[in-house]
Amino acid sequence: MAKVKCPFCKQQMNKEESVKFGARYYHQDCLEVKQKKEGSKQALEEKEKAELKDLKDYLWFELYNQKVQMSFLMKQVKNMREEHGFRYKGMELALRYHYQIKGEKLQEGHGIGIIPYIYEEAKQYYALLLENKKHAETFTEPSTKKVTVAISNRKKEELPVIDIESL
Ligand SMILES: [Zn+2]
Repeated sequence: MAKVKCPFCKQQMNKEESVKFGARYYHQDCLEVKQKKEGSKQALEEKEKAELKDLKDYLWFELYNQKVQMSFLMKQVKNMREEHGFRYKGMELALRYHYQIKGEKLQEGHGIGIIPYIYEEAKQYYALLLENKKHAETFTEPSTKKVTVAISNRKKEELPVIDIESL
């Protein structure tokens, strides 16, 4: 029987048991895993592309109002990404935090070199914001009076789950 080597797991198998894909022969399972991996990798690349576009739009139209040398900024972006592993979306959010939320003044000629110094603080700010938002979405303040009645009428451990809507 002819033997082939699965390029994914590097194991040999009988050709009859393999699945042909492109010019190679795979185990059925290996091919599925491989394709799944490539699918998510592609999705990630698409997302990154979209995030990079957002960052560029933000820099060009919002932050610098079309008065900046983009090639200079994009070189900084590339360097920071390689050096610190920052995501494009993270850089954009860090700058939004620094300039729009904290209201810092833009310094001529510095480009966006501030990012590594503000990144952590910005991250914490957004994490907190998200936490508060979640909290606000799930929590509806019940009427104090009605809750007091409910608690005084029953033992605490016997209280059913309170459906805020029904109070
Ligand atoms: Zn395999």
